[in-house]
Amino acid sequence: MLCINAGDRSARNEQFLHIANRHPCFSTETGVSHGRIHLPVSPACNIRCRFCNRQFNATEYRPGVSAELLKPQDAVALVRRALELCPEITVAGIAGPGDTLATSHALEAFQLIHREFPELINCLSTNGLLLERYADDIAAAGVRTLTVTVNAVDPSVLKNICAYIVVDGIKYEGIEGAEILIAAQKRGIRKAVSLGLLVKINAVLIPEVNGWHIAEIARTVRELGVGIL
Ligand code: SF4
Repeated sequence: MLCINAGDRSARNEQFLHIANRHPCFSTETGVSHGRIHLPVSPACNIRCRFCNRQFNATEYRPGVSAELLKPQDAVALVRRALELCPEITVAGIAGPGDTLATSHALEAFQLIHREFPELINCLSTNGLLLERYADDIAAAGVRTLTVTVNAVDPSVLKNICAYIVVDGIKYEGIEGAEILIAAQKRGIRKAVSLGLLVKINAVLIPEVNGWHIAEIARTVRELGVGIL
């Protein structure tokens, strides 16, 4: 059980307000006055969500679809150009199209962006499988806001959403993979919170599969120190 004292809580509130004033995902007003750019640089994934349908094409507009894949160097050039056209941009985000930590591309892109534009908020989304391993590198690359997708905290539920995971070249299926992923997410979230990152959880609600389980996800991530789901 995580105990948060009044000092910690007030520091967290201050941190949240500081970010919310510049990050469109954290405040409705900021969504009108500030902008963000999403950079598709991560080509591969290390887990297999059963609903995932990643594609490259220029005609579909939905999560998981990118018109093209950017190299890290191209991503920083795109940010440079975007800021010339739209100086209101305060956030550079990488959410895929695969997992951002399954390859080194996202961290390389953020390192380059942070070096050239240290005032930008770098924002990363991940499935959390490798979060604990890379949390220090993530923080060092100027990532201030982190989203972890947690679709279940019970392996018997998660195995129906995630078919398998791959860690260091070894594939784990079904309940075994689900147990490893949940444990890795918990360790990673705890570490990211301890490093001072503002962590938000996304959960994909699939009514018949995890619809009744969302409150349990909320309780679990709250105990890990996260306040936004
Ligand atoms: S983590 Fe994201 S990219 Fe990977 S399989 Fe799941 S939905 Fe698709």
